[in-house]
Amino acid sequence: MENRKTLALIAHDNKKDDMVAFVQTHFDTLSKYDLVATRTTGMVLREKCNLDVHLMLSGPVGGDAQIAAQVAEGKIEAVFFFIDPLDKHPHDPDINTLLRICNVHDVPLATNSATASYIISEKAL
Ligand code: PGA
Repeated sequence: MENRKTLALIAHDNKKDDMVAFVQTHFDTLSKYDLVATRTTGMVLREKCNLDVHLMLSGPVGGDAQIAAQVAEGKIEAVFFFIDPLDKHPHDPDINTLLRICNVHDVPLATNSATASYIISEKAL
């Protein structure tokens, strides 16, 4: 367990179906990692995909900030954050922090399912 890498999974509400489809398609690969997710995303993935995932707080109440902190501490190998670009989010500052921290630390960051699928299928992780 100690040597397993950790991936973070987050999806805005309108992108949760995309995240479910992504996880279903890549379940075997994702299952080889320790997984963390913001709360609602993680609950959906537990229920619909039977995925073993550790739950952080929900995004709007600090989950993205928790994951940003883990990225800054070097604990996260890659972030899969399916963003809804057509909606406003009360926690935009936290979202921007997470994106910025990934870029500061050069951590792979997929903000849509196409990029996520590319990263996973390229076995870059
Ligand atoms: P959620 O948070 O998984 O709790 O819905 C995602 C987000 O909006 O950052």
